[in-house]
Amino acid sequence: MQKVGFFKSIHVKIVLVYILLIILAMEIIGIYFARELEQTLKASFTKSIEERVDLVEFSVREEIIKKRGEEDPTLEQSLRSVLFSIRSEDINEISVIDPNFRILATSETTNQSIVGQRSTDAMVRRSISSETPDNKISLKKGDRIWVLTSPIIDQGEVLGTIYLESNIETVFEQMNQINRILAGGTAMSLAITIILGILIAQTITRPISDMRRQAQAMAKGNFSRKVRVYGNDEIGQLAIAFNHLTNRLQEAQSTTEGERRKLASVLSNMTDGVIATDRKGRIILINDPALRLLRVSRELVLHRPISSVLGIEAEYTFEDLIHMKESINLDFSSPERPYILRANFSVIQKETGFVNGLITVLHDNTEQEKIDMERREFVANVSHELRTPLTTMRSYLEALADGAWQDQELAPSFLNVTQTETERMIRLVNDLLQLSKMDSRSYDLNKEFVEFIKFFNRIIDRFEMSKSQQVHFQRLLPDSQFFVEIDADKLTQVIDNIISNALKYSPDGGNIRFGIIVQEGFLKVMVSDDGMGIPKENVERIFDRFYRVDRARARSMGGSGLGLAIAREMIEAHGGAIWAESEEGHGTTIFFTLPFELDEAGEWD
Ligand code: ATP
Ligand code: MG
Repeated sequence: MQKVGFFKSIHVKIVLVYILLIILAMEIIGIYFARELEQTLKASFTKSIEERVDLVEFSVREEIIKKRGEEDPTLEQSLRSVLFSIRSEDINEISVIDPNFRILATSETTNQSIVGQRSTDAMVRRSISSETPDNKISLKKGDRIWVLTSPIIDQGEVLGTIYLESNIETVFEQMNQINRILAGGTAMSLAITIILGILIAQTITRPISDMRRQAQAMAKGNFSRKVRVYGNDEIGQLAIAFNHLTNRLQEAQSTTEGERRKLASVLSNMTDGVIATDRKGRIILINDPALRLLRVSRELVLHRPISSVLGIEAEYTFEDLIHMKESINLDFSSPERPYILRANFSVIQKETGFVNGLITVLHDNTEQEKIDMERREFVANVSHELRTPLTTMRSYLEALADGAWQDQELAPSFLNVTQTETERMIRLVNDLLQLSKMDSRSYDLNKEFVEFIKFFNRIIDRFEMSKSQQVHFQRLLPDSQFFVEIDADKLTQVIDNIISNALKYSPDGGNIRFGIIVQEGFLKVMVSDDGMGIPKENVERIFDRFYRVDRARARSMGGSGLGLAIAREMIEAHGGAIWAESEEGHGTTIFFTLPFELDEAGEWD
């Protein structure tokens, strides 16, 4: 926050106002007081001088009248003594002048030589000729003096005049002294005022700066501070209101914070992705699941247009998305992996209809899409598998109907083909029924404890006896007994399919090896052949329904591609696993495991 300039602060302003007020008051008082004092002092000074002049005039008049007419040399003597008697500090000189302007006497001891001389002073002459007293202030050797003349009149006759010089400078000195005292007082009161001003200003500014600091702290999110309340005046009330405001703000802030946290935790803990945009379609919020689903980082997508982040800018503008009613699928699939997201859009709108932004909810739809696709594929596969034998049968039946039934040689072979195709269809439908039962889990395993080596040998024996090819069987079976809890019929079906596959895809003169090993609570069974093998990329898929590596050839061998799918369902129902390892051109090995407990086997031993 900006710092308040020194001369702009209330503190200095208040002190300045106080000082100016005091100076103004002192000035007014000083001027008025000095003028009044000057007048009073001057008046009392002149009054006291005039009184003494009156006294001197009276005495001098008496002396002159007493000695009138006679040339009395003692007149000057007696006049001098009258003047000497009146001498004082404030009177510089007092002299008596006769009507002929001759100086009769003077009080100045050092100036007795002027006695007898004629006065040239204009005031003296004017006083004698005009018979009126006169006075003036004039300068003498740098000092101000008050000069006064007073004519001595007796019954209309001018006997002379009194000339007096008084030292009025003392009055002015007195004035200056008083003015100095006044100035000192002013300075003293100014000093006291400044101190008082600072103290008073502090009582006002301290709570204000407290509040300023508090506001600054609040801006930084610190609500724990409280403004001190110094009194119950307006500023105190303001401080109380300010503290109240702080409390309310803190409450409001914590509520918003709580709501924000709640929303954030909801957004990050939901499985669906949520993206919010501003009204221009730029992303302002994106939760973690959305980042995971889109496989992007937050820094990368924030403030970017939503349509480009979703990869649909070619098909849709932001306007289109706002008006989008149904959800759209975003296909991020790669050749190896399907990956499909479903996006739903809803608009953030004000009551006025003004669009404020867009909320997009993303959901991983890959599984659903995969299931849908598998279902479509399954239906297509089943129809295809059924159509092939049916078309074959139709053409043979047509030929029979067209007259071949009468042919002794063709008729039996044609009927034989239709019979084989019918059996194939029955087998297919049975396989499908079995798979559908397993899908709906509406089947029971008739489990019993079976000694597995014996069980396995019996199946291999059966194949060895009935085999039509020149294939050599190798049994790598341990010489002990293993009791496992299995549904013997179902497992016979599984092993039958594996062995028949091995036979089907093995050339004449090949080997088929059978092995069993015990491994960490499992019995691991393997059937290995030296046949044509399976291309690496298809090995995993042979357990899929209807999957055949080479459709045309497999069908000619009577396979529909359901055998291993059924085998996987059954082995998994027994708690085991089934997988294949194969090298194209060199052979295939099918492995499966069955859970097996040694202890129980021991009991049975
Ligand atoms: P079905 O068993 O329903 O009569 P099928 O034998 O063709 O038909 P599966 O047993 O499920 O079907 O086998 C699927 C595919 O896996 C086969 O079509 C074949 O292409 C391949 N396959 C299975 N076992 C072997 C093997 N030992 N050697 C080579 N390919 C094999
Ligand atoms: Mg098979």
